[in-house]
Amino acid sequence: MTANTSNPETIVLHAGHRKDASGNSVAVPIHQTTSYQFDSSEHAENLFALKELGNIYTRIMNPTCDVLEQRIATLEGGVAALAVASGQAASTYSILNLCRAGDNFVCSTDIYGGTWNLFANTFKDMGIECRFVDPSDPENFRRATDENTRCYYAETLPNPKLNVFPIKEVADIGREIGVPLIVDNTAAPLLCKPLDHGAAIVMYSTTKYIGGHGTSIGGMIVDGGNFDWEAQGDRFPTLNQPDPSYHGAVWTEAVKPLGPIAYIIRARVILLRDLGAAMSPFNAFQFLQGMETLPLRMERHCENAAKVAAHLLNHPKVSSVIHPSCQDGELARRRDAYLNGGHGALVGFELTGGREAGRSFIDALELFYHVANIGDARSLAIHPATTTHSQLSAEEQSQAGVTPGYVRLSIGIEHIDDIIADLDQALEKA
Ligand code: PLP
Repeated sequence: MTANTSNPETIVLHAGHRKDASGNSVAVPIHQTTSYQFDSSEHAENLFALKELGNIYTRIMNPTCDVLEQRIATLEGGVAALAVASGQAASTYSILNLCRAGDNFVCSTDIYGGTWNLFANTFKDMGIECRFVDPSDPENFRRATDENTRCYYAETLPNPKLNVFPIKEVADIGREIGVPLIVDNTAAPLLCKPLDHGAAIVMYSTTKYIGGHGTSIGGMIVDGGNFDWEAQGDRFPTLNQPDPSYHGAVWTEAVKPLGPIAYIIRARVILLRDLGAAMSPFNAFQFLQGMETLPLRMERHCENAAKVAAHLLNHPKVSSVIHPSCQDGELARRRDAYLNGGHGALVGFELTGGREAGRSFIDALELFYHVANIGDARSLAIHPATTTHSQLSAEEQSQAGVTPGYVRLSIGIEHIDDIIADLDQALEKA
């Protein structure tokens, strides 16, 4: 990068790459290779021993992915990052890097359904306990913590409720006890920098706003380099005890000369090496293209979403609108403390006509896509009660914030008049 800057508009275009070493290309090349020629046996030996950092094999690292990793780490104010094959892989690795069978972690109840399934069921089968707590009282995290608690986990702006998570409050509790906070910032890139509020690790489904064009699945884990893993060595055996799978390396010791990157190095050389959910270089290229316009897109996404929320508030067929701009009290305080430059582009609303009205509304949409996704440049809609949350009981749906007439919108960057016209004509038929 030519200039040191904290401005995201510049970082997304310049961080981690100026020109390609072989052909001076300005665009980041797609390094579509599995492996890398070692300069000598000594070079190979040093790379494997981590005495020198460099490319070995694309399952563990790749120069195209490396630029994306540097770009997102810079954007978040972190020290290093790891690209993986999906958001699911990112949340899986972020936890498995600290938890082993018999351990537990504490997680907000307000999280994406796919993450919920992973934590409540698959991790349970692996002997890792997820303790879900209500984030409306940050002290719930302290109450659920014991000596086997390895981390806290939450989403900045979780849908469907869209209640902003109390990042600093929970990060502070964790730092007092010696427990790091991992934050999924998928729905709020640029609007929130969780590391600035005390989080230790940030993760993304890059599938959403980072890519923006709906072409690629991917994930990212960013290491804040701001957590002292050695202060309570017993709490973090994966980082402080000799690792038998890497000739006895103690990660906090082994990587000290390279900086405070023990967490992310272990995720790369152990989890990515063994479990193999690597991001393809082609997808990394797609994310780099998408990211170049992220600041512009987020501005438009947020502006359009605020206008949609205001419009729906006055509609006779809408009984309530769920959007941070419509909140008050403590929720509004958290919104203002943690979201900067917009309130996100997810908007929920409830139709007075309930479940049937929700289905008719979705079927009548012409511009909006009916998909199980968020964060695309195009506007998207879904009726959770009959799709994403249909396997839950009525009571579970209501706990998750999904009423029969609830519709979730992910507002795109089309012209606002066209977005509102489509909503209005579909509402007429609902
Ligand atoms: N985190 C959040 C907040 C999500 O919305 C999603 C997907 O919808 C994921 C994680 C999982 O990401 P992916 O679909 O890239 O695996």
